[in-house]
Amino acid sequence: MALKPKDYRSELEPVWCTGCGDYGVLKGLTQAFADLELKPENLGVISGIGCSSRLAGYTRSYSFNSIHGRALPIATGLKLARPELNVVVVGGDGDGFSIGLGHIPHAIRRNVKLMYAVLDNGVYGLTKGQASPTTATEFKRDRGLAGIEERPLNPVLLVLSSGCGYVARTHAGNLPHLRATFREALRYPGFAFVHVLAGCVTYQTPTYAEEIYRRCDLLPESYDPSDFARAVDAARGERFALGVLYRRPPDQPPAVLPAELAGEAGVWAPAPETADLPPGDAG
Ligand code: SF4
Repeated sequence: MALKPKDYRSELEPVWCTGCGDYGVLKGLTQAFADLELKPENLGVISGIGCSSRLAGYTRSYSFNSIHGRALPIATGLKLARPELNVVVVGGDGDGFSIGLGHIPHAIRRNVKLMYAVLDNGVYGLTKGQASPTTATEFKRDRGLAGIEERPLNPVLLVLSSGCGYVARTHAGNLPHLRATFREALRYPGFAFVHVLAGCVTYQTPTYAEEIYRRCDLLPESYDPSDFARAVDAARGERFALGVLYRRPPDQPPAVLPAELAGEAGVWAPAPETADLPPGDAG
């Protein structure tokens, strides 16, 4: 009998704040599992630490809510030891892009088949609202967090420039898009990165979440995800392109950043004049 999304939920009830974007991500992920008819006994969901990392425990799978920033090496080990498992890694922007950042390029170059979904809400929610590596500078000022003026990281550009073969972006408030994005990423035979724009209703202002949503655009049907230069352009745009930004056959070598971009500071973070934009924007 075909399994339904609810069959991929554990008996644990989420303790996220009402309205948290992570609820949508859990729903989209379990829908994708059901679409692909994955068996729960063949699923591993590994997370780090943070609000979004609680998601692992809410799935019916071999789940492990592990240690801060270390989900990727744990998941890699699991996949190598149990290649029949479909292994998913989930975590937040703080977990992935701060303490966990050093693991990302290595997971990409190993290209072990994993789907890594980063639920990026631009804040450390679990520890009560500190700035994360993707927090926009305008938000830091709103929150009165003193002494932090670094420009935010651009997660999509970061993984593209590290040679990732599959890069997609979606939004936690767009359930059909989440579902389809996860479904496609789970099919990719190598390391697949999914940037999920996810809101935090407790530590972001409503204006901030609205602004992120307002800047989202679906990639047009004419978009060619095999075009690396176009993917880099999309990642550097002032808006958030949703869809599969880049996909290459896993047996092909990684593309490299064009030489004229590699030396630009703006490759890793927004240029100074756009530093007040929300995470992911650069231009
Ligand atoms: Fe979600 Fe923010 Fe609440 Fe954490 S603090 S559960 S990220 S809304």
